[in-house]
Amino acid sequence: MITGRFAPSPTGPLHMGSLVTALASYCSIKQAGGEWLVRIDDLDPPRQDPNAVNAIIRCLTAHGLHPDRPIIFQSDHAGAYESALQKLAPNLFYCKCSRKKLRAHDRYPGTCREARTPLPDRAVRVLLSDTEHGYCDGFLGSVDGNFAAQLGDFIVRRRDGLISYNLATAVDDGNTISEVLRGQDLLPVTAPQRYLMQLLGLTAPDYTHIPCLEFADGTKLSKQTHAPPLNEHSALANLRAALGYLGFQAPDAIDSVGILLNWSIAHFDLSQIPTKLPKYQPS
Ligand SMILES: [Zn+2]
Repeated sequence: MITGRFAPSPTGPLHMGSLVTALASYCSIKQAGGEWLVRIDDLDPPRQDPNAVNAIIRCLTAHGLHPDRPIIFQSDHAGAYESALQKLAPNLFYCKCSRKKLRAHDRYPGTCREARTPLPDRAVRVLLSDTEHGYCDGFLGSVDGNFAAQLGDFIVRRRDGLISYNLATAVDDGNTISEVLRGQDLLPVTAPQRYLMQLLGLTAPDYTHIPCLEFADGTKLSKQTHAPPLNEHSALANLRAALGYLGFQAPDAIDSVGILLNWSIAHFDLSQIPTKLPKYQPS
């Protein structure tokens, strides 16, 4: 079964950059006859906006992007993440380094690697091996996976107990998702996620990283850069704009969201997406 997903963090409303990625993922999976899922990556309560989940779901619905199964919430998966930590135990260590101390290093210097038995009030890190974790990306082609040199042993559970994004994503994508299509801003987390799946004995999805939508000055659209929220009442125009950024021009005569999505599924072609998207033009 071909399965893809769109996995927003509920930190704010969706913007045009989110729509571009969601639409590309939706079209790619639907064209292959697969199931498209929506997963809310809600593992970081302090950064979340309680209204964002409803706003995201409402916005996807307005744009006709209906998931094929009930919406998945990472906050429901605490048990699976704990089991994964137990399974990873031979590869974990317990780090007491302060953020301040680590600031002087480009990557984790391996200070606490010998602390192999669980200790309270410590961050849990995974020991990296020096093996190569390269893979073939659906958009970028061959991607160098020698991330150990750049990243060092990374955190899987924070000192405050929160499960890391990488661990949660590896557990939720492994064995379940067959294609992850997402923005190139997430390229750096792919190798760590694939590494965790390998340690956990999970099959990794295929990955396709498309370019991110940027403002005229080259910054990526995000909540932090104050990307304007999508107006749900302009769904048809928003979808047309998103298609335009991806390099597709739908016939002007199409006047409904459903028909436009069907056209998009039929005409979607990764090779038509430019290596750099046109700059964002606020409507
Ligand atoms: Zn440490």
